[in-house]
Amino acid sequence: MSHVLVLNSGSSSIKYQLLDMGEGAPVASGVVERIGEGQSILTHKVPGNTPGTPARKHERREACPDHEAGLKAVLDAFSTIGPDLDGIELAAVGHRVVHGGARFGGAVLVDDQVERDIEELAPLAPLHNPANLAGIQGARKAFPNVPQVAVFDTAFHQTLPPAAYTYAVPAHWRTEHKVRRYGFHGTSHAYVSRRAAEILGRDVADTNVIVLHLGNGASATAIQGGRSVETSMGLTPLEGLVMGTRSGDVDPSLHAYLVRNAGMSAAEVDTALNKQSGVLALAGANDMREVWRMVDEGDADAKLAVDVYCHRLRKYIGAYYAALGRVDALVFTAGVGENDERVRAGAVAGLERLGLTIDPAKNENLERGTEQAISPDGAEIPVMVIPTNEELEIAVQSLDLLNR
Ligand code: ADP
Repeated sequence: MSHVLVLNSGSSSIKYQLLDMGEGAPVASGVVERIGEGQSILTHKVPGNTPGTPARKHERREACPDHEAGLKAVLDAFSTIGPDLDGIELAAVGHRVVHGGARFGGAVLVDDQVERDIEELAPLAPLHNPANLAGIQGARKAFPNVPQVAVFDTAFHQTLPPAAYTYAVPAHWRTEHKVRRYGFHGTSHAYVSRRAAEILGRDVADTNVIVLHLGNGASATAIQGGRSVETSMGLTPLEGLVMGTRSGDVDPSLHAYLVRNAGMSAAEVDTALNKQSGVLALAGANDMREVWRMVDEGDADAKLAVDVYCHRLRKYIGAYYAALGRVDALVFTAGVGENDERVRAGAVAGLERLGLTIDPAKNENLERGTEQAISPDGAEIPVMVIPTNEELEIAVQSLDLLNR
């Protein structure tokens, strides 16, 4: 059976996963960190062959001045630690790319034009697209005979109707500067919403789902019949929900107010809203486990942080209920969504009239990493926890594209 190598290239790292597409499971995974920072660290993991056998983890240090060198180190790990790539059929290398603008509504086979497009879209994602592109260029050299597929975080949201993606701002901002809502985390929202329909035994085309992807970054999406129709992140990933270090929604005049009154530059405000805001700004920590520990110790700031976080979630659930008209499932996913029962309970508190309730016992006794309903049996709207799997989704989309 064929395999797909999935690459997620950041500015100084490459995360990778080799998936056996028969099983839909990883046969190796790892990360190269500190690329271009002198000594890089490669961690390569191979799961145990049989259930109960422990995974093997290898760590190496070597100099990787750029992504090409990083990928060479990955190839070297495969040939010395295994599984040997020469012995398997590698059908594709699938790349996570953050911003596809309005140009890409689905996965594409990478060629020189696609590379130029990703580069041209860099002003919309200055931290991510150049790093994603470096990974693609490195992989095209490392695997010259394997098809390379780009899967965009924004693509799933290209089905947003104009009424949902248009900001009410001057025309030339929208045309010349491409100002509109794009949305992110699309790969995760696509995977999780499809799984929800499958688990419920429903036709995807006739299933409406609200997905709350709550990781360090967080976004909500309303999905109607398999198509994203509303999403909380906008032009950039700053808009919407309260996140680990991002503010989410604020008054759009906040920038101007702080520039006028606090002597800050627009860039300083932008950095603060992205990196020093959110739960971190309110509680002093951005990891929810730490925040709840503080709440339990009676810390009023931490309590306010979780109250603001859950209040924003409830507001979005209500709004997306209105956008969909009928909701067939509410799904929690990603680090916080999958693991934090108190956030899940807080997000739906008081929404009984909408048909949304949680069974406390199911919610609190969830087996980690499993797909489960946490609403009472026979609930009007199933509330579910579905672990996201962006690597698998990238691999599936890559294969689908090649088989088309
Ligand atoms: P990323 O956006 O970086 O991919 P993840 O989806 O991995 O993030 O989520 C990371 C976040 O998940 C952590 O910052 C932490 O707040 C939260 N998290 C992880 N495990 C738990 C847990 N057991 N309880 C509460 N929150 C958790």
